[in-house]
Amino acid sequence: MRYPKLRELKEAVRSLFSRPYTTKFPKEAHIPVSAFKGAPEFHKDDCVGCGACAEVCPAATIYVKDDLKTRMRNITLRLDSCLFCGNCQANCITQKGIMLGNKYDLATYKREESITSVDKEIIVCEHCECVIGAKGHIRFLVKKLGVLAYGNPTLILASQDTLRLSETNLDSKAPAVDASGRPGMFKILCPRCRRESMLTDEYGK
Ligand code: SF4
Ligand code: SF4
Repeated sequence: MRYPKLRELKEAVRSLFSRPYTTKFPKEAHIPVSAFKGAPEFHKDDCVGCGACAEVCPAATIYVKDDLKTRMRNITLRLDSCLFCGNCQANCITQKGIMLGNKYDLATYKREESITSVDKEIIVCEHCECVIGAKGHIRFLVKKLGVLAYGNPTLILASQDTLRLSETNLDSKAPAVDASGRPGMFKILCPRCRRESMLTDEYGK
């Protein structure tokens, strides 16, 4: 019994002369270590709006909402239910669209302050107006696929800004186009309408 008591006394004396192990936060700002994983943040320029982060989030705290009227996709993250697991960052297709930063002082009385979001333009089918994907995501795929992207007319047409072929698609008041037959091949179509267009071109209506 004597030995442990002496050891504790030695530790107590040593602690009197050593630096404190705790920080003085919140009195003094805490500086996180470089590997610290704090609040996830969207990086607008590197996010292409694919929504993969929402698919892999185990807490289901990332939401994707498409607005057909404005042709915009809103991706929202609620920090108040985030687990800081880093799954979103690990599975981001650009690897830089969402990253866990070093923000740690997240306590708030207002829940809306714990919301962070990013808006991205979407491309819709010119025939049935269903959402094909985010414009940035389509451009990302075209770049990745290289010449292979020419096998998919929608990918190429939707990314042809310089030819202004996608302009009608961005006009929410534009009437739905006839996608049947050969003319439909040169429209921005969802996979279902593209298949119908190909079949009607081959076999008629
Ligand atoms: S860190 Fe984890 S819980 Fe938080 S948003 Fe990313 S995937 Fe979801
Ligand atoms: S690019 Fe990354 S951050 Fe943006 S929606 Fe896709 S997975 Fe999420």
